Formats: sequence, structure tokens, C-alpha cells
Amino acid sequence: MKLVIGHMYPDILNLYGDRGNILALKRRCEWRNIEVEIKPITVDTNTNFADVDILFLGGGSDREQKMVSDDLTIKKGKNLKTAIEDGLTVLGICGGYQLLGNYYQTAKGDKLKGVGVLDVWTVAGTKRMIGNVVIEVNINEKAFKMVGFENHSGKTYIGKAKPLGKIIIGSGNNGEDKTEGCVYKNVYGTYLHGPVLPKNPEFADYLILSALKRKYGKIELVPLDDSLEKTAKQSIIKRFIKK
Ligand code: GLN
Repeated sequence: MKLVIGHMYPDILNLYGDRGNILALKRRCEWRNIEVEIKPITVDTNTNFADVDILFLGGGSDREQKMVSDDLTIKKGKNLKTAIEDGLTVLGICGGYQLLGNYYQTAKGDKLKGVGVLDVWTVAGTKRMIGNVVIEVNINEKAFKMVGFENHSGKTYIGKAKPLGKIIIGSGNNGEDKTEGCVYKNVYGTYLHGPVLPKNPEFADYLILSALKRKYGKIELVPLDDSLEKTAKQSIIKRFIKK
């Protein structure tokens, strides 16, 4: 088996170790003898998203988001939407998440168009939301906690879409409604840097599984020894929930 991971704008959207998400996906596949090809996709790269199994978009500053938004929406948007409707697995973090929504209005007042697959919109606020985050999610009928780190001024509001999780610690989408992230089909948007996947291996495996299922049909993932990750996560949860 083989998965192709499309890394969107690795030269531009690359905040706070987001590339660690790509490494986690790659390693967790390789430990199971699943071959991985990583395709860097940037501005002006001709891409057919039908050839990609997992697509990743990291975070970026307002300036960097502006550099990619036309390419993402005007040049690549239509083909990307078709692949998403067909079940492409996508993970967008922070700035990448905002650009999967309807629009992001930056602190300077520019309104950057998004792909519009997640029914969310984001407006830069006056205060940055920075700190550790703990959320409760329910993915693949399993409820569990995810941990991460956020640093954004954008406040995201959800229309008809479903949030990814409920805030226990931190600000999440907007610091007001206790929602975090957003889900549509196999598209996941979240504010969790961290990077999120090495810290939350259940989520990493779920993305791998959904991509494999789409490509190969019924699949089971060989479990890995995640005791180290689980201990680290528990200690983060305990530390922040006690306070
Ligand atoms: N520029 C966006 C914001 O501040 C996204 C930042 C990020 O990706 N961390 O809201």
C-alpha cells in the first residue's frame, strides 16, 4: 500500500513546527510498511488533487496567507473542491484552516478569499489567543482529548458546519463559544499547532485510516506502541486541568 501526502506551501505556510505533522504521518505509515510519497505543492505548482491521498496545510502569518490565497482559491480551488467532495483527507492548521473556510479578514482589513469547503469565516481580533489547548473530540465514534498549542488573532465563527471539538482549556475558534476547529467530510481544520499529530497519535491514525479506506476499501491499521505519546499527553492534560 502507498499513500501520497500533499504538503501545501511548505515554503510559505510553516509555523511552529507544523512540518512535524508530515513527519508523524510518514513515520506511522512506514512503521506499518505503508509506503509514503511526500509531494510539495506550492504557488504555481500544477496539481491534480485526485492524485493525492492526504493533503496538509500548515499555519502562516497574515502576510504569508495573503501570498497563497489567490493561488489556493483561484488556481487550485475548483480541482481541490472536487477531490474533497470525492473524499480526500485534508488537515488544515490555523492559517491553513482559515483558508479552507469562506474568508479570512486580516488585521489590516484585507479580506482573503478561502476555498469555502468549511462553512466558517474568520476575522482578525485585537488580541492574540496564545497558549496551551485541551479539547474533547469525538472521531470515528471514539471520544478522546486532544492537546495542542494555539497562537492566532483570527476569530473563527462556524455556520452550518460541525466543530471538531469542545474547548476544555484555551480559546479555540474564537474564545467565546467553546468550539474548536471544524469538520466537513474528511476535511479537518483546527487551531492546534504543537504539532498536533505527534501529540495526538489517535488523530494521526484516523487520518491515515480514512485515506487508506478511500483508496483501498476496508482496512485495519496495525496498532503501534504509543505508550510514550500517551504518557506525555496525560501529563499535559493533568498539568493544565489542575490549574
Ligand atoms: N495569521 C493568522 C492569525 O493570526 C494565522 C496564524 C497561524 O497560523 N498561527 O489568526
